[in-house]
Order: sequence, then structure tokens, then C-alpha cells
Amino acid sequence: DERLILQFQITLYGDDERLLMARDITRLHRLEQMRRDFVANVSHELRTPLTVLAGYLETFSSYVAENGADRLPPRFARGLSQMQEQTTRMQNLVNDLLLLSRLEIDQGGDDHTPLAMDALLESVRRDAEALSAGRQRITVEVEEARRLIGSEQEIRSAISNLAFNAVRYTPEGCQVTLRWKPHPQGACVEVEDDGDGIDPVHIPRLTERFYRVDKGRSAATGGTGLGLAIVKHVLLRHDARLEIESRPGRGARFRCVYPAARLAAPESVASA
Ligand code: ADP
Repeated sequence: DERLILQFQITLYGDDERLLMARDITRLHRLEQMRRDFVANVSHELRTPLTVLAGYLETFSSYVAENGADRLPPRFARGLSQMQEQTTRMQNLVNDLLLLSRLEIDQGGDDHTPLAMDALLESVRRDAEALSAGRQRITVEVEEARRLIGSEQEIRSAISNLAFNAVRYTPEGCQVTLRWKPHPQGACVEVEDDGDGIDPVHIPRLTERFYRVDKGRSAATGGTGLGLAIVKHVLLRHDARLEIESRPGRGARFRCVYPAARLAAPESVASA
């Protein structure tokens, strides 16, 4: 690739003076591309060995269960369940890394169709409820009839990440709401909770890879630290933006704002 990549900056001084600066960022651009490819390749290569490990661990643990778990020394039994837990964690991490690098590499935009958001939110709600196991109350509110034009897989993964976070980071008895509603610029998906919220100093950095407010607690929740980075990239590919509002002690609200150009008329009911 012989292209030269230049970055221009124009500064205005008073009425008639301009300063034009050009910077050669070819090398920077190439390095960034190499980093992305490297992460994508490594994550892809790690998937097969992890699948084999997970498969054998599953076989061992069902063998142990069938032959009486008490015949295995307790520390081996503990070790086995630890190995399974950590293998699952590594698989989640590798899948998220692969998804994130695909989102960064692909231009996207081909498999975009109008999505019925009531059904999509309802299906995310069911998954979040399984994760919550009754600890939170999760509801869906639909105040917008238009459909969102986008990739179903990506949009679902963005909303799921937000909903799962709301479940993971709020205490028992909290309320989580998934909403599709009109917005002055188009329409938005909101995921709101009334949990402990996030200290505003952390908000600007939340979408960075592996950025976590509380390292210990986040690792224990099973998150990968990549959830909000994935959300950010999905939104970028859909011309949308993420707004995060929170007051500590009063919960958090994550809003994905989609422009009007991304909306399609409601599905017409077939007339007789
Ligand atoms: P992960 O959840 O895997 O750690 P994310 O990128 O999804 O990574 O989230 C980054 C951090 O943002 C989390 O570690 C958590 O500290 C914070 N966070 C996200 N959502 C919420 C929420 N609804 N309430 C409180 N904190 C949150």
C-alpha cells in the first residue's frame, strides 16, 4: 500500500491570515492497522484451543458427576470447577476481542434492515432476566413506532451489553428499564437503572477498552472490560452517539441516539 496519509489543520488569525499545517500520519496509520490485524488474528487463533479445552473439561466434569464427585479429592473437584470458570472467562474475552476488532476493521453497512424494536428489546429483556435471576425488575417501554435501520446482530449486542451491565452493577431490588423513544434528532434506545451509579470523573473514559471503575468487582461480575467499547463502535457504524448520565447513588442512564436518517416507517399492517 503506497498511499500517503496526511492530516491538515487550518488555523485562522484575524480576518485575512491563515496557517495551514500538514502532518504525515502514514506510519501512525499503518501501525494502527497492524495492531488491529494482530489482535484479530490472535483472538481468532485462540478460539480453537479454548474450544478443545472447554470440551474436555466438560467431559471430565460429567464423568466425575456420574461416578460420584465424592471419590475425587476435594481440591481436585475445586480445581476442575475453577478451570471451567476461567476457561469460560477466557472464551468470553476472546469472543469480545474478536468482535471488537471486526467492528473496527469492517466498514459495515451491508446487512442493514429495518428492525422492529419492540421485539428486539423484549428479547434482550428475557436474556437480561436470565442473568438477573430475579435480583432486579426489568421492564421494556416502547414510545416510538418507527423502526431502526441497522445490523440486527450488532444492535442487539450493543443493547445486551448495556442491559447486562445494568444487571451486573446494580444491587438486589433495583429497577432496570429498556426504552425505545423519540428524540429531537431522531430516536433513542435508553437503558436506565436506579443502582449506585457512576462517579462522573469516570464517565469520559468508560468506553475505553478494559477501563473499569472497580477492577476487583468488575472481574467478579464476569465482564470482559470490553462491553462499552463494543457499544461505542456499534454506534459509530450506525451514525449514532452514546450519552452517559449518572449521579452517584441515583443510578445511571445510557442513551444511544440514532439520527432520523436511520429510521424507517412502522411496519405496515397488511390490509384485507
Ligand atoms: P465490564 O462490565 O466488562 O467491566 P464495560 O466496558 O461494559 O466493562 O463497563 C466498564 C465499567 O463501567 C464497568 O466495569 C463498571 O465499573 C461501569 N459500569 C457500566 N455500566 C454500569 C452501570 N449500569 N452502573 C454502574 N457502573 C457501570
